[in-house]
Amino acid sequence: MFAMRTVSEYFGSLVFDDREMRAALTAEVYASLRKTIDEGRKLDITVANAVAFAMKDWALSKGATHFTHWFQPLTGITAEKHDSFIMPAPDGGVIMEFSGKELIKGEPDASSFPNGGLRATFEARGYTAWDPTSYAFIKGKELCIPTAFCSYSGHALDKKTPLLRSMEALNKQALRILRLFGDKKTKCVRPFVGCEQEYFLITKEMYDKRPDLRYTGRTLFGAKPSKGQEMDDHYFGAIKPRVAAYMEELNEELWKLGVLAKTEHNEVAPAQHELAPIYTTANIATDHNQLTMEIMQKVARKHNLICLLHEKPFAGVNGSGKHNNWSIATDSGQNLLSPGETPYENAQFLLVLCAVIKAVDDYQDLLRIGVATAGNDHRLGANEAPPAVISIFLGDELTGVLEAIETDTPYQGVKATQMKLGVDVLPKFRRDTTDRNRTSPFAFTGNKFEFRMVGSSDSIACSNIMLNTAVAESLKIYADRLEGAADFETALHEMIRKTIKDHKRIIFNGNGYDGSWIKEAMEKRGLMNLRATPDAVPHLLDKKNVDMLTRHGVYSEEELKSRYEITLGNYCKTVIIEANTMADMARTQIAPAVEEYIAALANTASAKKVLDSTLDCGYEKELIWRLSVLNVKISVKVKELEESMQSLASVKEIGEKAALIRDTVLERMEELREGCDEAETLTAKKYWPYPSYGDLLFSV
Ligand code: ADP
Ligand code: MG
Repeated sequence: MFAMRTVSEYFGSLVFDDREMRAALTAEVYASLRKTIDEGRKLDITVANAVAFAMKDWALSKGATHFTHWFQPLTGITAEKHDSFIMPAPDGGVIMEFSGKELIKGEPDASSFPNGGLRATFEARGYTAWDPTSYAFIKGKELCIPTAFCSYSGHALDKKTPLLRSMEALNKQALRILRLFGDKKTKCVRPFVGCEQEYFLITKEMYDKRPDLRYTGRTLFGAKPSKGQEMDDHYFGAIKPRVAAYMEELNEELWKLGVLAKTEHNEVAPAQHELAPIYTTANIATDHNQLTMEIMQKVARKHNLICLLHEKPFAGVNGSGKHNNWSIATDSGQNLLSPGETPYENAQFLLVLCAVIKAVDDYQDLLRIGVATAGNDHRLGANEAPPAVISIFLGDELTGVLEAIETDTPYQGVKATQMKLGVDVLPKFRRDTTDRNRTSPFAFTGNKFEFRMVGSSDSIACSNIMLNTAVAESLKIYADRLEGAADFETALHEMIRKTIKDHKRIIFNGNGYDGSWIKEAMEKRGLMNLRATPDAVPHLLDKKNVDMLTRHGVYSEEELKSRYEITLGNYCKTVIIEANTMADMARTQIAPAVEEYIAALANTASAKKVLDSTLDCGYEKELIWRLSVLNVKISVKVKELEESMQSLASVKEIGEKAALIRDTVLERMEELREGCDEAETLTAKKYWPYPSYGDLLFSV
């Protein structure tokens, strides 16, 4: 019985991981596969055949009947096309087969995935290529092989390909820096990511009654509940039995898949929770996060619950994000964002830290673009979320060190020391866990950076692609200069100083939720405030960004144009679906419900008059008046919303269309909602067609 086994016995039982490979492959095949995994060596077809054979046997022993190339198209979710292992045998039966060729390459029809003009229609096929750095796993009866997805002309049609390229770019530049510091043995440097995932749980019963949740993943209407998150009693509070049972099964399923699910707790809002895994390489963390989101939703259904991954399922209630914890480490486990023991290690740490500071300042727009979706726009800048302005929190101590370096003054820390690089010992930085830290979109937390703008339903691929590449660019600039320097230490010191001087505007240790910050950020510091997706995404095609991303081979110019089209296309589609859903709900359910209640009130009033003409009908009259006025408002607003959508038809360019949606459709939606929400507060509960916010948030 499964339940009898201990976690360490079943952890990774559905993964063809290193343990399985070592056991199933000959020493020679294993060694050559390891080289491919660790050093990116090309895989020989005989090795691929041997791996495929072993993988198939293993998968069959776990009950799998099919295999699929599992990939991450630009829809933001994962895709799979299943093929069974069967091959007809001469005797009329079947044998189960799986070749090296089938392992390495697949050819799904690419025509139904977004490609932003990258794939001419005559070239409907794309291909998927095995990514051996991420282990194959079993889901249901499928052997899933993580793959990259490209068009036949070699353009990336997915998120994994650019992610792998960005990791390679970072590896290349970081190795140059390490060599400058005398490190000859490190073979590879990789970004590591641990991503905390927030989500809401509501009952399926409530969910089924809300067309807005079913069609769009968020509530489009809903008056504020009488009890929200103001008591702060949910955060880290006791987990309810039904939620605990869900988490238990979720953990089990994730552990079987080798996902290092580690912590779980309640979040700020009622019904909101969080799951955090132990960090791993950016590539695997991305695959695992996609799997986590999928399994979260699947397990919820088994418990008659629904897991909402939308960034803002409920207006006025804390939104959901992911905290993308990011660091860089060598193959021997040295974290380059960890202050070291020796002066040399510390100089290296400061240089890498500066590379991140410079990257975040130079490419604020790219980081914002990496998290740009219609859903996340509702969250960024709302008062509990990080603002749309990007800044870095370093904490007072580290900021003090940087200031001392910049001004050549003694650092007044634990003990005053002159901050001459390569000479002094840095103090140990304790992690700053103040509230100010928590409001920062990009915070240094001791030995890693935590990027908090990522939306809860987003793939983390995009933000890590931008982060990896932008930091690779800073490191490249440093390496270019330092490799030619006559006096390394002086050049290093100067460069660190210059970075601090040029980029200190991005460092902000204050309260990011404070209204005055946005003003200061924009007016005094000149930081970008890209509030909505249509404000941010056009910057993807700015020359400086195209130059940088193509220079590192992470995206081609065509690929960037396709991302521009697809990201804005998704934005438009999302809002239009929401607008249609709203108009429909208001017209066919809300307005009629209000009418029904008005009729009931009117009937009551007439009945009262018949009974006794002196009875006071002021209550009914007053309500009938207010609701009638609201219902007229609702019908006018529905019409205006529909007109705003009709006016989109004439706009062809996607950037213009997205901007028009931001300025008109979203505003009309807001106005329609206002009238409906007010009507909800006035209408007797039994007439209202939907469960209220209170019903939803306290349903489990
Ligand atoms: P919190 O932010 O909730 O206080 P932690 O700091 O313990 O939680 O960790 C949050 C996430 O950061 C976890 O997923 C953890 O694995 C990850 N993490 C910890 N160290 C690193 C690191 N060096 N690089 C990347 N992620 C890390
Ligand atoms: Mg965190």
